[in-house]
Amino acid sequence: MPALRLDAAVPPPELDGLRRDVRAFLAEEIAAGRIVPHADNWLAGWDPAFSRRLGERGWIGMTFPRAYGGSEAGSLARFAVTEELLAAGAPVAAHWIADRQSGPSLLKFGTEEQRRAYLPGIARGETSFAIGMSEPDSGSDLASVRTRAERADGGWVVNGAKVWTSGAHLADAMIALVRTGPAGQSRHEGLTQLIVDLRSPGLQIRPIRLLTGEHHFNEVVLTDVFVPDGRVLGTVGDGWRQVTSELSFERSGPERILSTFPLLAAVAGRLAERGADAADRARIGMLVARLWALRQMSLAVAARLAAGDAPAIEAAVVKDLGTRFEGALTETVRLLVRVEPDLASSDPLAQLLAQSVLHGPGFTLRGGTNEILRGVVAKAILAGGGEAR
Ligand SMILES: Cc1cc2nc3c(=O)[nH]c(=O)nc-3n(C[C@H](O)[C@H](O)[C@H](O)COP(=O)(O)OP(=O)(O)OC[C@H]3O[C@@H](n4cnc5c(N)ncnc54)[C@H](O)[C@@H]3O)c2cc1C
Repeated sequence: MPALRLDAAVPPPELDGLRRDVRAFLAEEIAAGRIVPHADNWLAGWDPAFSRRLGERGWIGMTFPRAYGGSEAGSLARFAVTEELLAAGAPVAAHWIADRQSGPSLLKFGTEEQRRAYLPGIARGETSFAIGMSEPDSGSDLASVRTRAERADGGWVVNGAKVWTSGAHLADAMIALVRTGPAGQSRHEGLTQLIVDLRSPGLQIRPIRLLTGEHHFNEVVLTDVFVPDGRVLGTVGDGWRQVTSELSFERSGPERILSTFPLLAAVAGRLAERGADAADRARIGMLVARLWALRQMSLAVAARLAAGDAPAIEAAVVKDLGTRFEGALTETVRLLVRVEPDLASSDPLAQLLAQSVLHGPGFTLRGGTNEILRGVVAKAILAGGGEAR
């Protein structure tokens, strides 16, 4: 049975200064009222102006080469910055997907022209991306996607529908997984990734509301949408391999353990004010201990990604444990304080609690459900590979 490879990774001490800079910047932003901390704000906090301010400081595209507008600071430096942003509940959604996974995919599979077209804008916090994987009848079983691209003069004509597409109504482009050829025996053949301009004629983007009423994700219907050959990402027919390599970036990051951290910080503050008894302290201590272990695991995966590995199994384990922790944190806080969750309350703790409760159902679904992640791990143990998303 293969062992998990989660070797201890220690962030270099020289990153402490970077952390302090990010904290000071965030404290200023909050004090000036330019941003308001929210739970799960990496998902829902779309604030292009804030993303641009981060871009100006070199805190987006930290893993991109300088030639494409990045800072080459590396993935552990990026980890430090993203942790600080998440811990503060900063609104980072406008650049999150592009910085985390579309940019690295473009670097890995994109043409020189595509890299030059998109990466500098991503690093400036100006160009945003959406993920076009899920479809109305294809979520976990991603290989069954039915959106089709047919060959046309100079490109492809796309028909079909994507669903749960985060930020599609605001983003510039979507990397869509589409069928361009027969599925073959494995069902993994004949899939291709296309970079779809989200302002293309033939696209309809319809909102799907979250429980909070926020417009975060969408149904994207594509009717005869033309995608030029220059916007094929990587190799025609190789989409499955490309998509699965992207998923380690999607699954292992600190956002899979820190979505509800602002709530933990707020409740710790409240308990400190009102005085905590031994039982309260023990509950908070247990959450912090669990969080610390998860953080070390997430760091270990980041270090392997930085070394060019594809730790898909470890990323799946971190996401399964991490997202369950995010939900358990909400539940613990709910039982710890007598605060009515209320999105419109003037009490930040009541707001953070409401945001955490209402966003909670998505934690274990987005990016691949926990059942599927466990299937990925089990299949890898049995046969050295996984099929489902
Ligand atoms: C907040 C949020 C944001 C999202 N953003 C995006 C996005 O930007 N782009 C995108 O492409 N998708 C996005 N998604 C979609 C997400 O990836 C899918 O919801 C997820 O992959 C599950 O697919 P599904 O919803 O079709 O559920 P299904 O695949 O229909 O699954 C339904 C249930 O059955 C279980 N199940 C299914 N197959 C198996 C199996 N083989 N073994 C055991 N159990 C199984 C699942 O675990 C789940 O509980 C988002 C989802 C959420 C909640």
